[in-house]
Amino acid sequence: MNHTNSERLYTEALQHIVGGVNSPSRSFKAVGGGAPVFMKRAQGAYFWDVDDNKYIDYLAAYGPIITGHAHPHITKAITKAAENGTLYGTPTELEIQLARMLKEAIPSMDKVRFVNSGTEAVMTTIRVARAYTKRNKIIKFAGCYHGHSDLVLVAAGSGPSTLGIPDSAGIPMSIAHEVITVPFNNLETLKAALEKWGDDVAAVMVEPIVGNFGMVMPKEGFLEGLCKLAHDYGALVIYDEVITAFRFHYGSAQTFSGLANHEAIQPDLTALGKIIGGGLPIGAYGGRKHIMEQVAPLGPAYQAGTMAGNPASISAGIACLEVLQQPGVYEEMDRLAALLTEGIQASADRHGIPLTINRIRGSFSAHFCDHPVTNYDEAQDTDSEAFAAFFRHMLSQGINLAPSKYEAWFITTAHTEQDVEQTIAAAEESFRRMSA
Ligand code: PLP
Repeated sequence: MNHTNSERLYTEALQHIVGGVNSPSRSFKAVGGGAPVFMKRAQGAYFWDVDDNKYIDYLAAYGPIITGHAHPHITKAITKAAENGTLYGTPTELEIQLARMLKEAIPSMDKVRFVNSGTEAVMTTIRVARAYTKRNKIIKFAGCYHGHSDLVLVAAGSGPSTLGIPDSAGIPMSIAHEVITVPFNNLETLKAALEKWGDDVAAVMVEPIVGNFGMVMPKEGFLEGLCKLAHDYGALVIYDEVITAFRFHYGSAQTFSGLANHEAIQPDLTALGKIIGGGLPIGAYGGRKHIMEQVAPLGPAYQAGTMAGNPASISAGIACLEVLQQPGVYEEMDRLAALLTEGIQASADRHGIPLTINRIRGSFSAHFCDHPVTNYDEAQDTDSEAFAAFFRHMLSQGINLAPSKYEAWFITTAHTEQDVEQTIAAAEESFRRMSA
C-alpha cells in the first residue's frame, strides 16, 4: 500500500502543528512511529486516504461515529442547522429536545447542561460535586481516562493510601494531592482509601464500563459496592459515560441489561459526550435536581460556554439518537461484533498467538495476552510489540484500527457482514505473517 502523500503531509504538518497531530492519540508513536495515515473522505464504514487507499474503519473517531461516517440523516440535520445559522448565543428549542431525549434514556439525570467536550463535562461534574459536598478530593480508578483537565490527569501514587502524582507536566502537586487513584474492580482498596480520606472525598468517579484500557466490565457487585461505599462516606458517585452512553443499547451503562441491580448502581452525576453529538463537538452532564441546582445561574458553581448547545451539534446529536432508536440497530451491531470476534479469536488460536478479546455488544478490545483483562495492570501486561505488528499488518490490508493497544474497536450501524469477513481474512493474514 502506497502512503507517499500521507508521508509528505506529515512532514508538512510537523512544521506547523505540534507533533503533526491535534490529539496525541492520533500519532503512531505507540505502534513504531512514522507518518499517521491522512484521511480525506469517509462514508459509512469506510475511509479513503490521500493516496486513494480504501479502509474499513473500526476507530469510529474514538467512538462518536456509531452510525458510520456521513450518515444521511445526520448530514441532513447538520446542513439544515448550518443554513439556519450555526451559533446564536441564545437558548433554542433544539436544546430542550436533546435534553429531554437524554433524560428519558438516562433517568438518573433530572437536569442536564450541554458543554463542548467530554473533558468539559467531566471537569464540571467534579466542580459540582465539590460545590455540593463542600469537600475537595476525588477518587478515581487507574487506567480510566476522563479527559485532559488537571484533576483527572493524575495517576496512582505508590499505593491506595497515598495521594496521586501528576500524569502530565504542568499539573501542580497541590492539585495531584486532591486525587486518589485505586485499581478498578477492587472494592478493598476503594474502602481503604475512603477509610483514610473519606471525610474530604467529594466524589468517586468511574467509567462504569471501562472503555479506556480496552473494554472492561465491572465485576459482579463492583458498582453496587462502589455506590454504597461512596454514599456511606458522604461522597457523590460520578459516572463518566462519555464512551458508554448509547454504546450498547439506547441508554447508558447505568441502565444496561448486561449489568444487574440497576437501582443500586445509579450515580449522582453523569458525564456524557461522543455519540450524543452525532460526530460534532459536544459534551453534557447531568444528575439529581438538588445537586445540579448548584450550577450557575441557580447556584454558586460556575460553568459557561460560548459554543455550548450550538444548534449544529445539538441537531446532529438528535439525528444520531433518532437513528439509534430504530428497531434492531443494536442487535445487528452485536451480531456482527460476535461474528468478527469469533473469527479473529479462532484465527489467533490457529496461529498460536495469545489473544484475549473483551466484547460488550458492538464494541470490543483485543489484548495480546493469555490472561483475562479486568483492570489496568492486566491491560498493561500485554504484548505491545505484537499489537504494533498486528496494527501495521491490518493497516496494510485496509483495516483502520486505533494506533494503541488500549483502544476499542467499534462496530457501527454501517458495517456489513462482508466487511466483517474481509476483516477476519485480514486478521488471518496478519497472524500468519506474525507467526511466520
Ligand atoms: N471520558 C472518557 C471516558 C473518554 O473516553 C474521553 C475521551 O476519549 C473523555 C472523557 C474526554 O472526552 P473529549 O475527548 O471529548 O474531551
